[in-house]
Amino acid sequence: MTPDRANAPDAEPSHAAAGDEDPPERPSADFLVVARPDLGQSSLRSLRAFAPGDPLAAFRPHTLQAAPTRMTVQMSETEHIELAPSWLAFINHSCDPNARFDPDVRHLVAERAIAPGDELTFFYPSTEWSMATPFDCRCGAARCLGRIDGAARLDPARLAGFWLSGHVRRLLAARN
Ligand SMILES: [Zn+2]
Repeated sequence: MTPDRANAPDAEPSHAAAGDEDPPERPSADFLVVARPDLGQSSLRSLRAFAPGDPLAAFRPHTLQAAPTRMTVQMSETEHIELAPSWLAFINHSCDPNARFDPDVRHLVAERAIAPGDELTFFYPSTEWSMATPFDCRCGAARCLGRIDGAARLDPARLAGFWLSGHVRRLLAARN
Protein backbone atom coordinates (compact mmCIF):
# COMPACT_ATOMS: atom_id res chain seq x y z
CA MET A 1 0.00 0.00 0.00
CA THR A 2 1.17 3.49 -0.68
CA PRO A 3 -0.35 6.57 0.88
CA ASP A 4 -0.49 8.79 -2.17
CA ARG A 5 1.72 8.34 -5.14
CA ALA A 6 1.84 12.08 -5.65
CA ASN A 7 3.38 12.38 -2.21
CA ALA A 8 5.57 9.31 -2.53
CA PRO A 9 7.77 9.86 -5.57
CA ASP A 10 9.96 6.84 -4.96
CA ALA A 11 7.09 4.48 -4.29
CA GLU A 12 7.61 0.92 -5.44
CA PRO A 13 6.50 -2.34 -3.92
CA SER A 14 8.96 -2.44 -1.07
CA HIS A 15 10.05 -6.02 -1.41
CA ALA A 16 10.68 -5.55 -5.13
CA ALA A 17 12.82 -2.52 -4.35
CA ALA A 18 14.60 -4.22 -1.48
CA GLY A 19 16.43 -6.75 -3.59
CA ASP A 20 14.09 -9.61 -2.93
CA GLU A 21 15.30 -12.77 -4.62
CA ASP A 22 11.93 -13.54 -6.13
CA PRO A 23 11.34 -11.93 -9.51
CA PRO A 24 8.59 -9.31 -9.46
CA GLU A 25 5.22 -10.82 -10.07
CA ARG A 26 3.45 -9.56 -13.16
CA PRO A 27 -0.22 -8.68 -12.97
CA SER A 28 -2.70 -11.18 -14.29
CA ALA A 29 -4.03 -10.53 -17.78
CA ASP A 30 -6.94 -8.57 -16.29
CA PHE A 31 -4.76 -5.77 -14.90
CA LEU A 32 -2.00 -3.38 -15.92
CA VAL A 33 0.46 -1.38 -13.84
CA VAL A 34 0.75 2.13 -15.27
CA ALA A 35 3.95 3.83 -14.19
CA ARG A 36 4.19 7.59 -14.44
CA PRO A 37 7.72 8.43 -13.32
CA ASP A 38 7.17 11.99 -14.51
CA LEU A 39 4.45 12.33 -11.88
CA GLY A 40 6.19 10.13 -9.33
CA GLN A 41 3.05 8.05 -9.45
CA SER A 42 1.96 4.59 -10.48
CA SER A 43 -1.45 2.99 -10.62
CA LEU A 44 -3.16 -0.29 -11.33
CA ARG A 45 -5.76 -0.31 -14.08
CA SER A 46 -8.35 -2.89 -14.97
CA LEU A 47 -8.36 -4.22 -18.51
CA ARG A 48 -11.84 -5.67 -18.29
CA ALA A 49 -15.24 -5.00 -16.79
CA PHE A 50 -16.26 -6.21 -13.36
CA ALA A 51 -19.61 -6.10 -11.59
CA PRO A 52 -20.05 -4.98 -7.98
CA GLY A 53 -19.02 -7.78 -5.65
CA ASP A 54 -16.85 -9.57 -8.19
CA PRO A 55 -13.61 -10.98 -6.74
CA LEU A 56 -10.72 -9.24 -8.51
CA ALA A 57 -7.69 -10.98 -7.04
CA ALA A 58 -6.75 -13.14 -4.09
CA PHE A 59 -4.05 -11.75 -1.84
CA ARG A 60 -1.85 -13.18 0.88
CA PRO A 61 0.92 -11.95 3.14
CA HIS A 62 4.33 -11.43 1.60
CA THR A 63 5.57 -10.34 5.01
CA LEU A 64 3.77 -9.94 8.32
CA GLN A 65 4.44 -6.76 10.30
CA ALA A 66 3.51 -5.75 13.84
CA ALA A 67 3.19 -2.08 12.92
CA PRO A 68 1.95 -0.30 9.80
CA THR A 69 4.27 1.07 7.16
CA ARG A 70 3.37 2.95 4.03
CA MET A 71 3.42 -0.35 2.15
CA THR A 72 1.28 -2.50 4.44
CA VAL A 73 -2.41 -3.36 4.54
CA GLN A 74 -3.94 -3.97 7.96
CA MET A 75 -5.45 -7.45 8.27
CA SER A 76 -6.69 -7.47 11.87
CA GLU A 77 -6.36 -5.50 15.09
CA THR A 78 -2.71 -6.54 15.33
CA GLU A 79 -1.52 -7.68 11.89
CA HIS A 80 -0.20 -5.71 8.96
CA ILE A 81 1.01 -7.35 5.76
CA GLU A 82 3.01 -6.47 2.73
CA LEU A 83 0.93 -7.75 -0.14
CA ALA A 84 1.49 -10.69 -2.38
CA PRO A 85 1.10 -10.54 -5.29
CA SER A 86 3.20 -7.38 -5.16
CA TRP A 87 1.41 -5.56 -8.00
CA LEU A 88 -1.61 -5.09 -5.73
CA ALA A 89 0.51 -2.52 -3.89
CA PHE A 90 -0.01 -0.15 -6.83
CA ILE A 91 -3.66 0.38 -5.88
CA ASN A 92 -4.05 3.96 -4.72
CA HIS A 93 -6.49 5.53 -2.29
CA SER A 94 -9.77 7.16 -3.25
CA CYS A 95 -12.64 8.47 -1.15
CA ASP A 96 -14.91 7.05 -3.89
CA PRO A 97 -13.26 3.65 -4.26
CA ASN A 98 -14.16 1.00 -6.81
CA ALA A 99 -12.49 -1.86 -4.93
CA ARG A 100 -11.90 -3.05 -1.40
CA PHE A 101 -9.32 -5.26 0.29
CA ASP A 102 -11.39 -7.65 2.40
CA PRO A 103 -9.03 -9.20 4.97
CA ASP A 104 -11.64 -11.73 6.08
CA VAL A 105 -11.81 -13.40 2.67
CA ARG A 106 -8.33 -12.29 1.53
CA HIS A 107 -9.69 -10.99 -1.73
CA LEU A 108 -9.69 -7.70 -3.54
CA VAL A 109 -13.38 -7.25 -4.37
CA ALA A 110 -15.15 -4.84 -6.74
CA GLU A 111 -16.91 -2.20 -4.66
CA ARG A 112 -18.87 -0.94 -7.67
CA ALA A 113 -18.91 -1.50 -11.40
CA ILE A 114 -15.48 -1.30 -13.03
CA ALA A 115 -14.99 -0.57 -16.73
CA PRO A 116 -11.97 -1.46 -18.87
CA GLY A 117 -9.33 1.20 -18.33
CA ASP A 118 -10.53 2.26 -14.90
CA GLU A 119 -7.89 2.81 -12.24
CA LEU A 120 -8.46 0.54 -9.24
CA THR A 121 -8.71 2.37 -5.94
CA PHE A 122 -9.58 1.51 -2.37
CA PHE A 123 -10.46 3.55 0.71
CA TYR A 124 -7.44 3.28 2.99
CA PRO A 125 -9.36 3.81 6.26
CA SER A 126 -11.43 0.73 5.36
CA THR A 127 -8.49 -1.36 6.57
CA GLU A 128 -6.13 1.12 8.24
CA TRP A 129 -6.81 2.14 11.83
CA SER A 130 -3.81 4.44 12.25
CA MET A 131 -1.62 5.05 9.24
CA ALA A 132 2.15 5.37 9.26
CA THR A 133 2.08 7.99 6.52
CA PRO A 134 -1.00 10.24 6.57
CA PHE A 135 -1.59 12.48 3.58
CA ASP A 136 -3.96 15.11 2.26
CA CYS A 137 -6.26 13.50 -0.29
CA ARG A 138 -6.98 15.26 -3.53
CA CYS A 139 -9.03 12.49 -5.14
CA GLY A 140 -11.72 14.91 -6.26
CA ALA A 141 -14.61 12.77 -5.01
CA ALA A 142 -17.68 14.67 -3.82
CA ARG A 143 -17.29 13.03 -0.42
CA CYS A 144 -13.49 13.42 -0.24
CA LEU A 145 -12.49 13.36 3.41
CA GLY A 146 -9.36 15.46 2.95
CA ARG A 147 -6.84 14.34 5.54
CA ILE A 148 -6.42 10.55 5.38
CA ASP A 149 -4.68 9.17 8.45
CA GLY A 150 -6.68 6.05 9.27
CA ALA A 151 -10.12 5.33 10.71
CA ALA A 152 -9.09 6.06 14.29
CA ARG A 153 -8.88 9.80 13.76
CA LEU A 154 -11.99 10.14 11.59
CA ASP A 155 -15.35 11.14 12.99
CA PRO A 156 -17.41 7.92 12.75
CA ALA A 157 -20.21 9.93 11.13
CA ARG A 158 -17.87 10.64 8.23
CA LEU A 159 -17.30 6.91 7.76
CA ALA A 160 -21.00 6.26 7.17
CA GLY A 161 -21.57 4.80 3.73
CA PHE A 162 -18.05 3.45 3.38
CA TRP A 163 -17.40 -0.28 3.37
CA LEU A 164 -15.20 -1.03 6.40
CA SER A 165 -13.33 -4.21 7.22
CA GLY A 166 -14.32 -6.31 10.22
CA HIS A 167 -11.42 -5.19 12.43
CA VAL A 168 -12.08 -1.50 11.73
CA ARG A 169 -15.75 -1.98 12.65
CA ARG A 170 -14.72 -3.80 15.83
CA LEU A 171 -12.22 -1.08 16.76
CA LEU A 172 -14.81 1.65 16.17
CA ALA A 173 -17.35 -0.22 18.31
CA ALA A 174 -14.80 -0.69 21.10
CA ARG A 175 -13.92 3.00 21.09
CA ASN A 176 -17.53 4.15 21.43
ZN1 LIG B 1 -10.32 11.94 -1.24
